[in-house]
Amino acid sequence: SVALYIVPTPIGNLGDISSRALEVLNQVSLIACEDTRHSGKLLSHFGIETRKTALHDHNERDRAQGIIQKLANGESVALISDAGTPLISDPGYHLVSQVREAGFKVVPLPGPCAAITALSASGLPSDRFSFEGFLPAKEKGRLDKLTELKEDPRTLIFYESPHRIVHSLTSIVAALGGDRQVVMAREVTKTFETFLSGPAAEVLATVSEDPNQQKGEIVLMCHGHRTDEDAGVPAQALETLKLLSQELP
Ligand code: SAM
Repeated sequence: SVALYIVPTPIGNLGDISSRALEVLNQVSLIACEDTRHSGKLLSHFGIETRKTALHDHNERDRAQGIIQKLANGESVALISDAGTPLISDPGYHLVSQVREAGFKVVPLPGPCAAITALSASGLPSDRFSFEGFLPAKEKGRLDKLTELKEDPRTLIFYESPHRIVHSLTSIVAALGGDRQVVMAREVTKTFETFLSGPAAEVLATVSEDPNQQKGEIVLMCHGHRTDEDAGVPAQALETLKLLSQELP
């Protein structure tokens, strides 16, 4: 039926496109892309010849009206971004809200998302988490944001760019403390996929010393704030208890 389809695309491994995504991209009459040239490569790889239009942060509000017109004509439209799930640190919010407001159906497809993919293998608590997108570019803004999050008990998830990772880790050490457990997931689903974890100060040292650790795409995750209650029994004591209990009859 006529709808705006929200279609996630791979975050590095082309094998991660779903068969339903390909079906929808083939069947709609228009694909709204964050960058038509970038998506052109992906679409031609899969032999998709559907017409494309650009929808980025700067023209989104205007483009939405044209897309609503298409839907009114009975034509379906798909939205994709450069990688991963549209709207997640990517354009699409204004389009989706305007399309819904105009009374048309919006159909989401599940698929790749760097934040969720990285979290699932991080070893950090995943029962509660807060996705924070990109930290502010300026130090003051970054420290303010992190200070606001300091006592949040949930796992924190940030997107990072390679040239800012050292600055962000430095701010995390300053605002959350060098002991805060962090996990840096780099190049997820790609050839050089790497998970680096440890206390923030150690991860900062490792990344500062090795320029290779500053390359590619990065999801940075922090353990949530631990209350005194959580920290009640030190890990070492638990380990000792486990060893002792093995010796009991
Ligand atoms: N919409 C995308 C999603 O669903 O994940 C995110 C788009 S955002 C503009 C790009 C950021 O996502 C990158 O700077 C990086 O933080 C993260 N990212 C994307 N692909 C990644 C990958 N393969 N490995 C690690 N992080 C990735």
